[in-house]
Amino acid sequence: MPVESLGPAVGFHDVTKRFGAGAPAVDGVSLSIEPGSFVALVGTSGSGKSTLLKTINRLVEPTSGHVTINGEDVSRASPPALRRSIGYVFQNVGLFPHLSVAENIALPLRLSGQRAGSRVNELLDLVELPLNVLSRLPSELSGGQRQRVGVARALAGGPRLMLMDEPFGALDPVTRASLGEAVQALHQRLRLTTVMVTHDMTEALLFADRILVMREGRIVADETPATLLAGAGGEAAQALVAVPRRQAQQLATLSR
Ligand code: ADP
Ligand code: MG
Repeated sequence: MPVESLGPAVGFHDVTKRFGAGAPAVDGVSLSIEPGSFVALVGTSGSGKSTLLKTINRLVEPTSGHVTINGEDVSRASPPALRRSIGYVFQNVGLFPHLSVAENIALPLRLSGQRAGSRVNELLDLVELPLNVLSRLPSELSGGQRQRVGVARALAGGPRLMLMDEPFGALDPVTRASLGEAVQALHQRLRLTTVMVTHDMTEALLFADRILVMREGRIVADETPATLLAGAGGEAAQALVAVPRRQAQQLATLSR
């Protein structure tokens, strides 16, 4: 695959989403994501991470405010065209159970009228799966392999922007780590812009170059892994960092 330019910039402009009468799920978020960055959106359950992420590919329409990709308001694009140009990976990827791995990966290409051809093999290679899984059904794969197929399918249309919502949530720790590393390598190799939602601060610290902490619909910290580890970001951010830090200290004590 050719070396491409960096993935797009993403801008949130005073984005608010209300689902009902209560507190908004997303509350006046404004920020810009640089081309080629790997951003982790971290926060406790219900803090608005998924809702904010989905305003990018219009699975959620903001109540007010708007979202831009390379300066273009996403509300001007048709949702199907927009979604074809953006990779989206979520927990339990939603592969079609009656289609083979090859057919699942080729589906987005077919839907946009392209021939799959050798592209499927190339995608499989990209996510480090052996060719012999192509003819299998999703139920004949491990959870980690299924998520890799999901990533391959998300990359099929050659997106420059990847959105991931708890992509490794249902996996065991070892599989999580290896898939995380694969995703980070893909991000760098394909020069993507990646936005990953996770409740796992360790994952964010390991893989992202910028960490946004959400709480009650707002971004309460905007830091790098280094600054977070040095104690920046305020109370909510440090509460999340305290978990992996304590675990690391416990492990260090045990191995003495
Ligand atoms: P997170 O991904 O951080 O766990 P979400 O963005 O899913 O949080 O949810 C934020 C808030 O918005 C929660 O209170 C949730 O119940 C609410 N919410 C999310 N989606 C919907 C929906 N489709 N309808 C009503 N409320 C929703
Ligand atoms: Mg969520």
